[in-house]
Amino acid sequence: MAIKDKILIIEDENNISTLMSTVLGANGYDVLAVKTGEDALSMISSHCPDLIILDLGLPDMDGMEIIRQVRAWTMTPIVVVSARTYETDKVDALDAGADDYLTKPFGTGELLARVRTALRHNRTIAANRGAGESEMYKVGDLVIDYAKHQVMVNGENVHLTQNEFKIVSILGKAAGRVLTYDTILRELWGPGAHGSNQILRVNMANIRRKIEKNPAKPQYIFTEVGVGYRMAEDENSR
Ligand code: CA
Repeated sequence: MAIKDKILIIEDENNISTLMSTVLGANGYDVLAVKTGEDALSMISSHCPDLIILDLGLPDMDGMEIIRQVRAWTMTPIVVVSARTYETDKVDALDAGADDYLTKPFGTGELLARVRTALRHNRTIAANRGAGESEMYKVGDLVIDYAKHQVMVNGENVHLTQNEFKIVSILGKAAGRVLTYDTILRELWGPGAHGSNQILRVNMANIRRKIEKNPAKPQYIFTEVGVGYRMAEDENSR
């Protein structure tokens, strides 16, 4: 039997914690659950979970503090759970090193998708260390050919500009995960970059015009309002 991935749930609301434990347990994960930041930190160091699900509003500690402490010594994926009204919290959590977020209330399908993507992404990073990166991304009729610097839809080159191609590549390599505007801008123009989100929006409008059947209802690159963008999950990884 395969070794189960161990998931630590840090959530003080009983019903949400129980729901997540039940769903994840039923889907083959080994689940641990705590309700306070203090218990979380001791559990992380003693049990080394493969993934952490973190509610930002904990009774004894700000969830952001947990992200900072954990990131100081491990890259264990962290999926943040947050209420819809706190978009800046999500951005801060992602920029502090969280891998993704779930907005309350969320469906079980969404929970499982975020968990699967974060676990896989972590493994891909580990596997690719020192090796070549994967050459292709494919979802639906869209293909990113990293070697040729081309994006094809239905087999036809859509002729992206250099910046447009870079943006699509960055999102494709993180497919399934949300990337904040700042993360994308830093990847584009380096760590010191303070480009404006407006430039990104203009580029995204052009990208969508070229790759999406209906740019108003994108099927490849989704907008996460107030946070950033998320590319649809790669078919090969599902
Ligand atoms: Ca809470």
